[in-house]
Amino acid sequence: MKTIGLIGGMSWESTLSYYSLLNEGVKAALGGLHSAKIVLVSVDFAEVEAQQREGDWQGAAALLARAAQSVEAAGADFVLICTNTMHKVAEEVRQAIEIPLLHIADATGQALVRDGIRKVGLLGTRFTMQEAFYRTRLADQFGLEVCVPAESCQQRVHDVIYQELCLGKVTDSARQDYIRIIKALQESGAEAVILGCTEIALLIGDADVDIPLYDTTAIHVQSALNTSLA
Ligand code: GLU
Repeated sequence: MKTIGLIGGMSWESTLSYYSLLNEGVKAALGGLHSAKIVLVSVDFAEVEAQQREGDWQGAAALLARAAQSVEAAGADFVLICTNTMHKVAEEVRQAIEIPLLHIADATGQALVRDGIRKVGLLGTRFTMQEAFYRTRLADQFGLEVCVPAESCQQRVHDVIYQELCLGKVTDSARQDYIRIIKALQESGAEAVILGCTEIALLIGDADVDIPLYDTTAIHVQSALNTSLA
């Protein structure tokens, strides 16, 4: 079994999901007392969020590059950045280390292509929904047509992430809004919706809607398990 490196804390609510899903996956595959070999560096999300808000992506890249180097020095065989948004600096992180980085959008794109999806809705932070590092990667590398919610709905999706989910708050009003926004994506022709933020699965799941959901946390975890157990 290879050792999985995690850069977590963004937010720690979703890092908990990574930690438990990875261990459940190894237990399901190997049985008995087996558990995942993990090295985790967990950052202070308040620092990262301030860098995002101020547009200090260079500072954020340096912070995550140092975290990745610590994970590598502690013996990880490969590394995951446990957030979609911070893949904006994935290239800088990749360049700072020798071990491979498993990109969350690539794992997600592969899952969508495997299932024959062509047009997909995307929910996430404003950065993830609007910027090229995620949307264009899915379009260019996987041939996907990516649609995002209307501007005012994007704001609501973004605010729920930072003001509720990253603080461990799960509310019915946020759930109802997300369901409404997913329905609108479906009506505009999306065949599936990417939960492109690692906390969204804490709020909604398959039982809430009637369109396939691609939970990036679960997909990223599966790709780590495949690599670790190969
Ligand atoms: N975990 C979130 C994501 O997957 C948002 C927090 C962050 O900005 O990193 O994008």
